[in-house]
Amino acid sequence: MVKQGLQVAIDGPASAGKSTVAKLVAKRFGYVYVDTGAMYRTVTYWAMQHHVALTDEAAVIALMPTLTIGFKPGEPNQLVFANTVDVTMAIRQPDVTNNVSTIAALPKVREILTDQQRRIAAAGGVVMDGRDIGTTVLPQAEVKIFLVASAAERAQRRYTENLKKGIQTPLAQLQAEIELRDHKDSTRKVSPLTQADDAVLVDTTPMSIEEVVTTIADIIKKQNSTI
Ligand code: C5P
Repeated sequence: MVKQGLQVAIDGPASAGKSTVAKLVAKRFGYVYVDTGAMYRTVTYWAMQHHVALTDEAAVIALMPTLTIGFKPGEPNQLVFANTVDVTMAIRQPDVTNNVSTIAALPKVREILTDQQRRIAAAGGVVMDGRDIGTTVLPQAEVKIFLVASAAERAQRRYTENLKKGIQTPLAQLQAEIELRDHKDSTRKVSPLTQADDAVLVDTTPMSIEEVVTTIADIIKKQNSTI
């Protein structure tokens, strides 16, 4: 397959700003944006809707053929579908957020979603964000970014975002939840959250969204001019 543009992998811990930044970077280059966290969230939502125990891998896997995850462009958030149902808001609710790491630790679920992600990215011209894109999903990606920010800053950003959506969770609780999710994502056996050796580390703590987008865009342009 002839690739139409680069594969750009953006990984990092919860609430580091990956999706906001990845979406803007994709727009700047006319690339497709793929939010892999939304895929793990949709599987979690689907399993919860079907009252399946989230640690029961066989039962979760048995449900997978009944679920097609879809994306459609939308503002400010890309729309996410479970078959024909718009789950954009539902998958961001605290019940899904606090359970998604359990689903993401199931090796067979990761295998299925990784396969779908590779097929989406095969043509290139894609910005994909997640936890294991640079290490596992697209190890050959031409651009790899590892986005980090302090837990306090990430909790503050999530708090402000939540207020706009009408979700009222205390700041200290958000920080504790973010740290717990980081811990689970970083210590799981399969594809844990780690920086790929060839990824560029970008600490967004003191940066505005625009500054982060420009930093990544410059890295992509530099890479584009060398291949
Ligand atoms: O990025 P977001 O916070 O929406 O991701 C939700 C969860 O999905 C993460 O906490 C992680 O458990 C899981 N995830 C993953 N691998 C990815 C993307 C997300 O394990 N590539």
